[in-house]
Amino acid sequence: MKIGILGLGLIGGSLGYDLRSQGHHVLGVSRKESTCQTAVALGSVDVASVNMNLLATAEVIFVCTPIGLIVPQVEHLIKHLKSSTVITDVGSVKAPIVTAISPIWANFIGGHPMAGTTDSGIEAAQKKLFVNRPYVLTPTSQTPPDAVAQVEEIVRSLGANIYHCQPEQHDRAVSWISHLPVMISSSLIASCMSETDPEVLQLAQNLASSGFRDTSRVGGGNPELGVMMAQYNRQALLISLQKYRQNLDELINLIEQENWTALTTRLESTSQARPNFVD
Ligand code: NAP
Repeated sequence: MKIGILGLGLIGGSLGYDLRSQGHHVLGVSRKESTCQTAVALGSVDVASVNMNLLATAEVIFVCTPIGLIVPQVEHLIKHLKSSTVITDVGSVKAPIVTAISPIWANFIGGHPMAGTTDSGIEAAQKKLFVNRPYVLTPTSQTPPDAVAQVEEIVRSLGANIYHCQPEQHDRAVSWISHLPVMISSSLIASCMSETDPEVLQLAQNLASSGFRDTSRVGGGNPELGVMMAQYNRQALLISLQKYRQNLDELINLIEQENWTALTTRLESTSQARPNFVD
């Protein structure tokens, strides 16, 4: 199959590696000429260009640009395509994208691979990034079943686990487990940096180990991605942040009141709940 990728960065480049290894012919389009050359040299795509026209013959196209560019880039892209071409995207937010693209392209299906790293760009692309990872698809009642089936088949071949849901449900769910953690993790680092005694701050930096590595990881990632999450999933993220603030206030109260029994109950409850989210 001829598969197109628009946006050759971490996600687009990683998709390219795996699709090529499945025997697909992969056409890549990116903004910078140097990225196109690197993508070909690394073996992530078969051919690459800065010209969208390269994707005219693709049967399925994955749009992998930063979130804010997905809708405008698809508006340009569709001028080059025949109506049977299936378009899917990988954006971390779904409702605004699906709402904007569905009316202009019938064969569109929203998608979001729940895989990534804190790095970005074509050099950060990895083989087998999607194996055993959730991959959300958000077809609407209007999405042609053939288009859904084609994207599903490709996604399954990446080794990913497919989930279907409404775009709005997706955005609420990822607000809890992806976008809220980025904001909390960033606040954690900022709070530590507010230590006023330079010697204590230096000591804290020297002592930081696996616990801090885990809890600060997503707050130390790509700032552009964090801003996009807040901008495009603003409503759901604000609800999650307000709930989190309420939880923090409750914790502060318990500790101020030295209510160790209630604190124990609370920590026991979160300890029991965690395996429902991650192994
Ligand atoms: P990234 O590494 O920064 O890659 C995006 C690439 O898009 C850039 O390398 C850039 O390539 C290219 N690009 C920028 N403007 C473009 C344009 N006008 N036309 C064509 N290409 C353009 O970012 P990413 O992490 O792969 O994220 C891409 C998408 O995946 C985002 O929508 C994000 O929400 C989603 N996503 C990210 C993750 C994650 O963990 N990172 C996980 C799941 C989904 P040039 O070098 O040519 O400028």
